[in-house]
Amino acid sequence: MDKTRSRRLIAGNWKMNGLRAEGLALARAIRAGAAGVPADLLVCPPATLLGTVGAAIGGSTIALGGQDCHAAGPGAHTGDIAAAMLADLGCRYVIVGHSERRADHGESDAMVQAKAAAGLAAGLIAIVCLGETEAERDRGEALAVVARQLAGSLPVKASAANTVVAYEPVWAIGTGRTPSSADILAVHGHLRRELAGRFSDAAGFRLLYGGSVKPGNAREILALPDVDGALVGGASLKAEDFLAIARFSAP
Ligand code: PEP
Repeated sequence: MDKTRSRRLIAGNWKMNGLRAEGLALARAIRAGAAGVPADLLVCPPATLLGTVGAAIGGSTIALGGQDCHAAGPGAHTGDIAAAMLADLGCRYVIVGHSERRADHGESDAMVQAKAAAGLAAGLIAIVCLGETEAERDRGEALAVVARQLAGSLPVKASAANTVVAYEPVWAIGTGRTPSSADILAVHGHLRRELAGRFSDAAGFRLLYGGSVKPGNAREILALPDVDGALVGGASLKAEDFLAIARFSAP
């Protein structure tokens, strides 16, 4: 689908990494190198570091995001975090439906959809993750799987302004393996068509690719039409690598 290319979003998912001193140093290093980077930058530290990192990037253009939220509002959910709490800490984004949460916590599409809806209700932009397993890809089911996840995980009120979709093949996360450019394009094109069947502003949705994005492959991946940015795990824990990836995001 033809569309005006949006400024890319480069999002760092720090996962369950970082004590305060490490998170502070990483946030400061990213901030120090962010000037002139031709992309929107987002860091998603663990919940314990949101305050520290938020203070370190305060006043910069770097956005802060949570890695998950509960589907319900504040209340009796021990250990969980409400979307409003993330917003209160200065978050603009929340990742939902990451494959590690789908696997580790049994999160279904319906649960992911409810979490995304909670994020939107709190004024956050939801980054909804989806992607096929290696077995599903081997069976030729990748497109069907991501279409099903998209249909089940996006909330009714999703729009290009409040929702980002991240295609993250499970077999590519943390493995050093990536799909071919043709395979990424095929999935993103399919997601775009599925979005068009449901949303009038489908062309404006940012579609991120995630899974072993590194400085060495970012140029090729971010040059692909219909790749509007990257969700970066391991490489986001090194400021120079995260920033190097973002520098490949020239329009
Ligand atoms: C992720 O977990 O969102 C991710 C993309 O991880 P990595 O970059 O390490 O593959």
